Amino acid sequence: MARLTEYRKKRDFSITSEPAGGRAAARRSRRFVVQKHAATRLHYDLRLELDGVYKSWAVTKVPSLDPAVRRLAVEVEDHPLDYGTFEGTIPKGQYGGGTVQLWDRGSWTPQTDDPAMRALADGHLKFELKGERLKGRWALVRMRDEEARRGRKIRHNWLLIKEKDAVAQPGAADALLSEVTSAKTGRTMEEIAAGKPARRKAAARAKAVRKKSVLRLKKAPARPRGKSVHS
Ligand code: MN
Repeated sequence: MARLTEYRKKRDFSITSEPAGGRAAARRSRRFVVQKHAATRLHYDLRLELDGVYKSWAVTKVPSLDPAVRRLAVEVEDHPLDYGTFEGTIPKGQYGGGTVQLWDRGSWTPQTDDPAMRALADGHLKFELKGERLKGRWALVRMRDEEARRGRKIRHNWLLIKEKDAVAQPGAADALLSEVTSAKTGRTMEEIAAGKPARRKAAARAKAVRKKSVLRLKKAPARPRGKSVHS
């Protein structure tokens, strides 16, 4: 709660209706995305919305559903929230050049009493994911003595760990490799790279057209059916 000390000191919450911030606020749901990224090495970028940005980790392999198999998650720079809808190809030669697929999206909820930012600073965040592919309880744990200087920035290595719960799958660390399409557009990496149009949008449009024609049929004036015979 250290971050809110000054905010609270300035306010009398028995008088003002402003939020004091606390357990309920700390456990608020926020957005998360995972972007599969075929850069120099294929990885999965996990992004958790926090304080107006996406806190980001490059997970070096597909997230594991087996609590015993932990994945290395290299902390990378915060990303803007707009990035959460990005899918496409970063030109070669640019930073992170390669195809980006919006592999999963949904909401995340901290499972700690401390504010999530504090938990991250302490190097241990427990959270719940409600995505299309990642669900249930997870943890990010910062590794000790694993700081490497790259340029002027210290890069922290974390472990992404599936916690034991009903959706954990012991022995199925790579089960999610079978999920190869975009959660946003239904496209494979190859289709994104080739600039093919979104499958889901096309499917949704077709459905909307069908619905419209059904409505049109329903609205068509009913032919008088034998009225004259019975009246
Ligand atoms: Mn990346």
